[in-house]
Amino acid sequence: MVMPKVKITVWGFRCGRCKYEWVPRDPDSKDEPKFCPSCKSPYWNKPRKNKVAKAGK
Ligand SMILES: [Zn+2]
Repeated sequence: MVMPKVKITVWGFRCGRCKYEWVPRDPDSKDEPKFCPSCKSPYWNKPRKNKVAKAGK
């Protein structure tokens, strides 16, 4: 059986907030997107942190 299709893996990004995945327009660019193109969150690549405990304990 001939498989005319091949799976091409490209580097992309995934938003940690809305799970949106996209491929950068410029694959050669080392720069990460400033924000998620879907939810516009500038923290798309930041791990979700727990609520910052207030200094009181
Ligand atoms: Zn997003």
